[in-house]
Order: sequence, then C-alpha cells, then structure tokens
Amino acid sequence: MLNKELFYATIKPFETETDDDAFARLDKFAEMLIETNKSFNLTAIKEPDDVTVKHFADCLAIFKYVNIPENARIIDVGTGAGFPGLVLKLCRPDINMTFLDSTKKKLGFIENVLNECGVKGETLHMRAEEAAQLSKYREQFDFATARAVAALPVLSEYCLPFVKQGGSFISMKSAESDEEMKDAKKAIGILGGKINDDIVFDLVENMPRRIIIIKKNSQTPTKYPRPSAQIAKKPLK
Ligand code: SAM
Repeated sequence: MLNKELFYATIKPFETETDDDAFARLDKFAEMLIETNKSFNLTAIKEPDDVTVKHFADCLAIFKYVNIPENARIIDVGTGAGFPGLVLKLCRPDINMTFLDSTKKKLGFIENVLNECGVKGETLHMRAEEAAQLSKYREQFDFATARAVAALPVLSEYCLPFVKQGGSFISMKSAESDEEMKDAKKAIGILGGKINDDIVFDLVENMPRRIIIIKKNSQTPTKYPRPSAQIAKKPLK
C-alpha cells in the first residue's frame, strides 16, 4: 500500500526509531483508512503518498521534539481516525494510549486497526470536558496530544486538566497560529500550564508545521474544564 522509500525518506529528518514492524503496522492502518474512508468519512486525505506525509510523518515528528519515556501514559484528545495517537502507538506499542473522541464510529475504526495490528489501547467515547472531570482521567496522563480539534484557548481547557503535574500538553498546529497562541497565553496560565517550547519546522519543503509544548506546572483549578456551552460561549482568554 505505502511507498516504503517515500516513508523512510520523509521521516528521516525526524530521527524516529521506526523499524519495519512499525512500518508494516502503519501500512495496515493506511490500507484500512483508505478502504473505510470510501463508506465513512474519516479523512480528506485519500492518496497513500499524502497519508505518508500529511498524516504519518506529521505525527511522527512529535518523537523528534518530545522525549516520550517508555510506557508513558498519553491521551489523544479528539483523535478522529487516530491522529496523532494511533500513529504514535503503532510505532511505539509500549506507550499506554487512550484514544478519546465524541464520535463513537471513529473509535470503532481505531479498535479495528488495533485488533488487526495486535496492539492494545483504550478507546474513550466521551467529550473531553466531561472525561476530564472524572478522577479516573483527571491529571492522570504524562502527555495529552491534539491535532485539528479546536483553537488553542479552548483546546487548552480540554487538554491541560488531563495532564499530571510535570507532564505536557503537545498541541499540533499550523504555522499560522500566532494569533491563537497569543489568545491562549492567559488561559494556559489559569489552567496550570506554561508554554515550554514552540517549534516551527518544515514537514517537507514548503509545508511548515508547528508543535507547541505546554508544560503542566501546577494543578488545574477544579472548576475547569467548564461545561461545553460555557466554554463555547466564553473561551478563557
Ligand atoms: N485529530 C484528528 C486529526 O488530526 O485528523 C481528528 C481531527 S477532527 C477535525 C476533530 C475531532 O475532534 C473529531 O473527530 C471530533 O469528533 C473530535 N472532537 C471535537 N471536540 C471534541 C470534544 N470536546 N471532545 C471529544 N472529541 C471532540
């Protein structure tokens, strides 16, 4: 399914420890993604080479910029068809990954891929703002990740409550996100976080991407995240 040469050439700058077993699992993921996408809309990206670059390499870049220790516990918020969570998990099965999304059918797809690849992971069908109020999930994760879910002020309220003190929220953004970063600074502080790193890099030539690493320094006040309607009506700023 995937062009192996293109895959390895694209991820080379990201120095990830991807071996042929990981490649085989990602290849299976790509095949199932493209097939399932014919009957259920999972992604606008339909060509295998685009899946390699815009989905897989994009997510694997995280490994270059964030040191993820063995057996780390990660929650991927608004994972959709598994980005970045499933890509990270298929590459590093030691990671304890929780896939959270409010759309059950997308989680069903992720479960099918995990089964096919013989890899275990937890799917969680809830809204982030509800799950983060449960003690089972609140401040329990080393990392929260998110790509293409919401603007940073809202996304921080979804994600930072899941992260334990000393952990980080990894936000994947387009390079043109200065405005939302500015808007989110106060919210991040209120939620117990601080921007620790802000990396803009070229995924491939002329395809800039951004990874923002927000460190959790102190406990999130218990009133956050607020109910969905309040977050939507009055994003923290
Ligand atoms: N992260 C994936 C990616 O990069 O391809 C999916 C992005 S998709 C545009 C946004 C996903 O976030 C959808 O699957 C949606 O159901 C989920 N989502 C949005 N708000 C959410 C919330 N508050 N709680 C849980 N899931 C949410």
